[in-house]
Amino acid sequence: MLEREKRTAVKIVRDACRLAISIQKATVSPETLIKRDRSPVTAADFGVQALVSMLLQEAFPGDPIVAEEESSELALPGNEALRETVFEAVELVLPGRGPREIVEAVARACSAGGRAGRFWVLDPIDGTKGFLRGDQYAIALALVEDGRCVLGVLGCPNLPADLAHPDGERGSLFVAVSGQGATSWSLSQETEEPIHVADPKNSSDAVLCESYESAHSSHDQAARIALKLGIMRPPVRIDSQCKYAVVARGDAAIYLRLPSKGYSEKIWDHAAGSILVTEAGGRVTDLWGRPLDFGGGQYLPEPGVIATCGKIHDSVVEAVGKGG
Ligand code: AMP
Ligand code: MG
Repeated sequence: MLEREKRTAVKIVRDACRLAISIQKATVSPETLIKRDRSPVTAADFGVQALVSMLLQEAFPGDPIVAEEESSELALPGNEALRETVFEAVELVLPGRGPREIVEAVARACSAGGRAGRFWVLDPIDGTKGFLRGDQYAIALALVEDGRCVLGVLGCPNLPADLAHPDGERGSLFVAVSGQGATSWSLSQETEEPIHVADPKNSSDAVLCESYESAHSSHDQAARIALKLGIMRPPVRIDSQCKYAVVARGDAAIYLRLPSKGYSEKIWDHAAGSILVTEAGGRVTDLWGRPLDFGGGQYLPEPGVIATCGKIHDSVVEAVGKGG
C-alpha cells in the first residue's frame, strides 16, 4: 500500500535536499548571520516548494498540497534577485522550467487541508534559523488521509549519522508508512535501514530533546519537567523536525514542544515527523496525551507536542501536567 507514493516522495525529497544544500553552500555565511539576512532561506523555501509542487503535480495530478509558503512575495515587483536565485537553484535539479511555471507551482501548493480525502503537507525548509546558522534543518513531506498522517518523508541534509560525532558522516532521509515501520536512508545511497525508538529502563534514563530556540519551546519549563522525571543528562537541542528523527532512531527518548501561549502549531511542522516516531515504535500526542489531529485545517487543534519512545509516554504526559 502507498508504494508509489512512498517511492515518489523519497525521490522528490532527495531532489529537494540537493536544492537546499546548493543554496545553503552558495549563500549562507557568517556574514548573512551578522546582517540578519534571511534571503538565503527565503530562496530555499520557495525553491523547494516549487520543486516539490511540480513533481507531485506530475506524479499525482489533482492531489492538493498544504504548504508553508505563499507565492505573493516571490511575485512582487522588486524581488527580481530572489526570483533569479530560486530559478537558478531549481534549474540545477530540474532543468528547463520557466519562471512562470515556478511561480505557479509555488502558488498551487495552497490547499487549506481539512477532514475528508487526501492531501500532501509540506514544510519546504523546517528550522529556518538552523538553516541560516549552517546548522540543522529538514525538508518535511507527508501524506494525510481523512485527518490521519499515512506517509512521512524527512530529509535532514546536515544531521550527523552519529550525534556523538558531529564532524563525521552527515545527511539522512527518514521514511515511514502507516503500518509498515520506519527506515533511514543515507542521502547518497538507495539502501534503507529499519529504525527503532530507544528502550530506556525508565524515564530518568531517557535523553530529552527540544528546540534550539527557546522562543519555540521553553527551555526553563522543559528543565522543570526533566527534573520531575529524574533526568540528569543535559537536553539535546536541535532545530526542526530532525528532533523527531532523533527520537525515531533512538538517540533521544523524549521530544518536548512546549510553545508559548497564543501560538498555534502548524500541521507541516509535525505531520512527517510524528508518523516517523509512531512507526519506529514510539508515541506522539498533544500535551494532554491525545493523538494529533491533522484534519482540522492548517493548524493542530492544541498547542504543544510530546513525542516519546512509547513506554514512558504516560509518565511524561503526567510530568507535563496538563491533564490536571
Ligand atoms: P524548531 O526548529 O523545532 O524550533 O521549530 C521551527 C518551527 O517553529 C518553525 O517552522 C515555526 O513554524 C515554528 N515556530 C515559530 N514560532 C514559534 C513559537 N512561538 N512557538 C512554537 N513554534 C514556533
Ligand atoms: Mg517549520
